[in-house]
Amino acid sequence: MDKCKFHPNRFAHVRCKTCFIPLCDECKIVTNIGVFCSEECQNKAKEFQDKSMAMIEQKPKPKKSIIKPVAGIIVIIILILAIALLLDWTGIVTLPFVDKLKELIGLS
Ligand SMILES: [Zn+2]
Ligand SMILES: [Zn+2]
Repeated sequence: MDKCKFHPNRFAHVRCKTCFIPLCDECKIVTNIGVFCSEECQNKAKEFQDKSMAMIEQKPKPKKSIIKPVAGIIVIIILILAIALLLDWTGIVTLPFVDKLKELIGLS
């Protein structure tokens, strides 16, 4: 087991979260973000945490909100065209635009 950086005759049970030096129970500063050797290290860790929090918040929002409706409309159009072609093929209904469509995709 490591010895405390500041008390060579004491065992260190923890390490500073920022500089990783071994610390005894007396030297450690326990905070809600970790154990530190000094306020300086505590502040560094806090700064780092704040930065990473800010980075998470600044993450660009996914552009799915724009792409999704467009993709949905395309899927609906394809479905309608497929149904129209199917209806025409089965002879149930002949929709006026199906002939044009068949011309377009080379079915006629
Ligand atoms: Zn430290
Ligand atoms: Zn100590």
